[in-house]
Amino acid sequence: MAELTGQQVKEAGLAAGLDAVGIANIERLKGAPEQMQVANIFPECKSVVMTLRRIPRGVYRGIEEGTHWSNYTFYGYNRLNSFFRPLGTYRLACFIEDHGWEAVPVYPGVPEATPTRAPVREGQVGADVFPAIRIAAVAAGLGECGWSKVFLTRRFGPRQRLGMILTDAELEPDPLVEPNSICTLCMACAQTCGGHAIPHIKENKHVEIQIEDKTYRWGDVDMGKCTATHHGLNKEVSPFLARDCPGLRLNIAEQEISEEEAYKLAYTIAGGTWRKTDEFPTGHVVDYYKTMLQSTGYFAVCGANGCIRECMIRMEKAGKVENEFHEEFRKKPKWQLNYKGEVVSE
Ligand code: SF4
Repeated sequence: MAELTGQQVKEAGLAAGLDAVGIANIERLKGAPEQMQVANIFPECKSVVMTLRRIPRGVYRGIEEGTHWSNYTFYGYNRLNSFFRPLGTYRLACFIEDHGWEAVPVYPGVPEATPTRAPVREGQVGADVFPAIRIAAVAAGLGECGWSKVFLTRRFGPRQRLGMILTDAELEPDPLVEPNSICTLCMACAQTCGGHAIPHIKENKHVEIQIEDKTYRWGDVDMGKCTATHHGLNKEVSPFLARDCPGLRLNIAEQEISEEEAYKLAYTIAGGTWRKTDEFPTGHVVDYYKTMLQSTGYFAVCGANGCIRECMIRMEKAGKVENEFHEEFRKKPKWQLNYKGEVVSE
């Protein structure tokens, strides 16, 4: 059987269209909760190969202008995660298997939102096991979680989506990134998140993990507020909710909402139809959400205004992003709506 090295895997990943590949040994991920353990998916796993594809900066242009949203769902989120990135991951998994090692490409689900079900075999954990994809990427030396919990790299700042391959091949692990060598702790994400979901460092709400001799820390993001905002239940970032449900008052800054409640409510509203009237001729509760849901199976609305756009702007200004551009991203004052959906600044 042909020999396989980490270097060969990386070169094959780049040739398959990925922007970066990082490798962790299994030992670095042994501290994860059982329901997130990669060894519970593939007990013989020795190496975790993390795959990365960038989010083009231009994906955010339409939302930044306040004129075009669907790029965010399609090229920045759902299709990037469900089509463009997995293509390279799939090809790399085949490359590894061509060398006689099993390769398990893992689709990055949402561990927090996945209910634990009864085990199908005695002594095992229940379905579904979902590894924490960002922590695995930290363990593979690709970057670190920013204070916002968004994964940051030196090359693209906060602009990437991640994938994973588990293999029984023993590959050389990459060196870990030093904690806070990429995130500057500038707090721009916390100050500008439209969902009011990211705590300021002064609030002392954080998550901490240890990998080898390094301690990584990031803000304990309110995932209920984040999910509600991402999926358009927040008029501060959604002109669509403001237009189609003008009387609704849902002030996310003050509303306590769990992640599960946010998903249930957002998808109910997005999928909902009602009796047609002259005033609402489409019969959809929020027309845009329904359209996106029908065409992509997903709808992303918030435009990551704090955790990605603002972070990217600050990191680019600080010279912390290797993928440089001739022009600055923000060319005019940021638009802002209030919780009633009214324009408060332009
Ligand atoms: S905006 Fe980015 S760099 Fe600044 S604290 Fe947040 S994650 Fe870190």
